[in-house]
Amino acid sequence: DQLISQIAAGEVIERPSAVVKELLENALDAGATQITVRLEQGGVKRIAITDNGRGIPPEQMPLALARHATSKIASLTDLENVGTLGFRGEALASIASVAQLTLTTRTADAAHAWEITGSQEGNVVPASGSPGTTIDVQDLYFNTPARRKFLKSEQTEYGHCAEVVRRIALARPDVTFSLTHNGKTVDHWNIGEFAKRSAHILGDEFANARLPVDESAGPLRIHGFIGLPTASKARADGQYFYVNGRFVRDKLLVHAVRAAYQDVLHGDRYPSYALALDLDPALVDVNVHPSKIEVRFRDSRSVHQFVFHAVSRALAATSA
Ligand code: ADP
Ligand code: MG
Repeated sequence: DQLISQIAAGEVIERPSAVVKELLENALDAGATQITVRLEQGGVKRIAITDNGRGIPPEQMPLALARHATSKIASLTDLENVGTLGFRGEALASIASVAQLTLTTRTADAAHAWEITGSQEGNVVPASGSPGTTIDVQDLYFNTPARRKFLKSEQTEYGHCAEVVRRIALARPDVTFSLTHNGKTVDHWNIGEFAKRSAHILGDEFANARLPVDESAGPLRIHGFIGLPTASKARADGQYFYVNGRFVRDKLLVHAVRAAYQDVLHGDRYPSYALALDLDPALVDVNVHPSKIEVRFRDSRSVHQFVFHAVSRALAATSA
């Protein structure tokens, strides 16, 4: 059973950044407004995420670490209308099967925090800590050396982790995030407007030369910022696209944006952008595989046209 757990976990927990993603989504699900991510050695040695969310009552702590115990999906209809980010109910169990996991948590009305270590049978013991939750994940793949061999350099793994934090932080400017690596604070983003958060995350060059996009048509709305050509150097990591609040890397959407740049500016550079498309959840399928970030639209042609025209119009406003 432990082995099956580890195999399943290997698929979900591909690398440290997958842990970071799951823990951040849980913190957001818990209503946190302040989240601290502490990494050591690219996340392989340690990933500790602290939030000020609602916490977990002590009697539910063992359940939180149990496989499939918390799945929120009750029916296929639910699957189409997944509101919260977590819905598989096994991230913590998977992580706990391939790393040393300690959960320390305190609800708002509790006199003190409680702590539990290990996957299933750990005792819940009193601990100190403010309201909220800390999940401390150490020595990833300590018990699966074969898995560990697939990890890249500390710097590469760190880069993936930091990118996951940026993707989520950009989607949630209403939450303060901070990120430290090996004891050094790398990023700190205070609660603020999307405009400010995107400037902060995409950098000064983008912030100084960007165009607002904000259009609606029927069930579709797109808003955000696109980089001007001067800000659009061949930077393949400056593209942030969200569908209903979820970061996606989708061929159709990427194509629509690039086609608009080519059409209006005749350039072939990678544009930087931070765009959010919102639509009725019934009009889009989010691939439920945990590591996938692709979506399928009911009417992909009209989505493509909508995005293409919105970006084209924003660009045309300056080149006119
Ligand atoms: P899922 O998020 O799919 O339910 P997880 O394994 O990621 O499954 O988390 C299990 C459960 O533990 C969650 O449903 C939630 O009740 C609780 N939980 C996990 N992380 C937190 C957190 N940071 N704050 C409060 N509750 C949490
Ligand atoms: Mg979760």
